[in-house]
Amino acid sequence: MKFELPPLSYSPDALAPHISAETIEFHHGKHHLAYVNNLNGLIPGTPFENATLETMIMKAEGAVFNNAAQVWNHTFYFASFSPSGKREPYGTLSRAIDAGFGSFESFRDTFTKAATTLFGSGWAWLCMKPDGTLAITQESNAGNPMRSGMVPLMTCDVWEHAYYIDYRNRRPDYIKNFWELLDWAVIGQRFDEALKK
Ligand code: MN
Repeated sequence: MKFELPPLSYSPDALAPHISAETIEFHHGKHHLAYVNNLNGLIPGTPFENATLETMIMKAEGAVFNNAAQVWNHTFYFASFSPSGKREPYGTLSRAIDAGFGSFESFRDTFTKAATTLFGSGWAWLCMKPDGTLAITQESNAGNPMRSGMVPLMTCDVWEHAYYIDYRNRRPDYIKNFWELLDWAVIGQRFDEALKK
């Protein structure tokens, strides 16, 4: 299977000033694209030649895992943003966040701490556990919580390439503004779909 770079649903400058057009042009147009191209170069002749990204995330190791997971993770990350989305959770997901973390503010503090303190490159995640409750996890490098049997609902990319153009070394400032871009309609829909399975 040949993979392609999924287009964004918004223009490169739509998330400015929190994430600039230049960051989008590098992060989506170069980094995300490189993972797609790397994966397409890696899989011919392997057992994963016709596999889905999800299968490779669950079963592959090494370079195939790293590039497949990075393609999936970036697609998921970019699809969580919108220039004018719902900025707070509502409905079923809001109730689950209150039940798991006390309030949205408290959840945001805990998630912010997880994203800020993740050592090196990686991803902070909000996920659904098999029992339907929520968890926040930290994953290094290309890590994805599907590998631990959880359903990803939302993620923050804390690789330096996600924020260095706009924020230099100030990861906490990037994470603070990240909350201004999330579309909780998208994230809530992921949760509703996960609950149905
Ligand atoms: Mn990235």
